[in-house]
Amino acid sequence: MAFSTPQIAILGAGPGGLTLARLLEVKRIDYVVYERDDSANAFDNQGGSLDIHHDDGQLALKEAGLFDKFKSLARYDGQAFKAVDKDLNVIWDMPYTGQEGRPEIDRKELRRMLAESIPPQKIRWNAKVQSLEREIDGCIVVKFSDGSVAKGFKLVVGADGAWSKARSLVTSERPEYSGICYFRATISPANPIYHRVCKQVGTGMYLAVTGGKQVVAMRMGDASYVVYAGVPRPEHWSKDNANFFQSSRFREHLVAHDFAGWNSEITDLLTYSDDEQWHCWPLYSLPMTFKGWKSVSGITLIGDAAHLSFTNGEGVNHALFDGFQLANAIEKFGLDSLDDAIEAYEKKMIPRGLESLKEGEEAKRRFFGEDSPQQLKAWVASMPTEGV
Ligand SMILES: Cc1cc2nc3c(=O)[nH]c(=O)nc-3n(C[C@H](O)[C@H](O)[C@H](O)COP(=O)(O)OP(=O)(O)OC[C@H]3O[C@@H](n4cnc5c(N)ncnc54)[C@H](O)[C@@H]3O)c2cc1C
Repeated sequence: MAFSTPQIAILGAGPGGLTLARLLEVKRIDYVVYERDDSANAFDNQGGSLDIHHDDGQLALKEAGLFDKFKSLARYDGQAFKAVDKDLNVIWDMPYTGQEGRPEIDRKELRRMLAESIPPQKIRWNAKVQSLEREIDGCIVVKFSDGSVAKGFKLVVGADGAWSKARSLVTSERPEYSGICYFRATISPANPIYHRVCKQVGTGMYLAVTGGKQVVAMRMGDASYVVYAGVPRPEHWSKDNANFFQSSRFREHLVAHDFAGWNSEITDLLTYSDDEQWHCWPLYSLPMTFKGWKSVSGITLIGDAAHLSFTNGEGVNHALFDGFQLANAIEKFGLDSLDDAIEAYEKKMIPRGLESLKEGEEAKRRFFGEDSPQQLKAWVASMPTEGV
């Protein structure tokens, strides 16, 4: 059977790329998705639980006809939030009282829901993009790590995350390291301290911050807890110290070196987490000098590929919303005027992306500044009471 080349290629089957794919599917516009993972069930490698906001992420899911399914998977009581300092002084306590605005969903559930909403043959798994090149006739060639190539598209959308291969066709800017790493572990229901953690953390998120360091615990859909330690580290620390990082001494060192003097109720989350390998996420963002780009024919970016920001609780929502706005622009201008669609989409997306970069910087100061409990307290105090 011969297939004609779809006019739109989406690189990356993360939340942004799959939302765009689903919306094109709904609008009956042909496309193909290329993804390096071998399936939607591959290890969820970025963030455990994600809160989906009513004013952007949820709008995209409604337009995609997936909101009821989302609601059946979402954890509304996951919106409960408590922040303390290292001595357990409460900075912010927001129990769940029926809020609708920002329910949580496991990242892997969100991805699976989106992937299952489009025909399987539209996603090419195991397709790792190595580079993109523009040929002399202006056509973009996508080169894969297995040596194969794909071309003939009218539009290539880079939805390939922080280390986007597509980005180099629109800008020479690259992500910069923030100086902060998250180390991640799990506390499962079989863990001896699990019941204590249920009382301490509850159904949502628990955050302890002081002196530019933090411990975060959040409940997942399977009732386990994901625990993060956010600490300053050199950029390649986990690779340069691979043996130590993989050894049982790592957690003792983390507690003694980074969290000396913190209340044991907080450090026990690290000390007694499940006996398994920790994961390390060095946090990156595009530089604050980044100003976006002037539209380029035949290519655009969505999500982290377009505006990777220091983690600010908005990343996945912006990725979903980018997919939503790009799909609308493609529908409005049609396949014969895709460059106009790119321009109209980027006119709104780039300012929003630059704002997200700024919010990331503010979040970094608020949560990782040397005076982090004070910054966070001042921020909480400045909020309208009903917003808290
Ligand atoms: C530790 C951590 C915690 C986070 N917590 C939150 C949070 O609580 N709330 C929030 O809103 N955001 C959070 N984020 C950010 C959020 O995960 C991202 O902003 C969001 O996933 C961006 O979606 P995306 O689709 O643009 O990119 P991604 O989710 O990165 O998806 C990109 C996709 O492209 C694929 N890909 C990458 N390179 C290639 C290639 N060369 N070839 C083919 N495929 C490729 C990847 O496998 C992936 O499937 C967190 C991030 C981290 C690191």
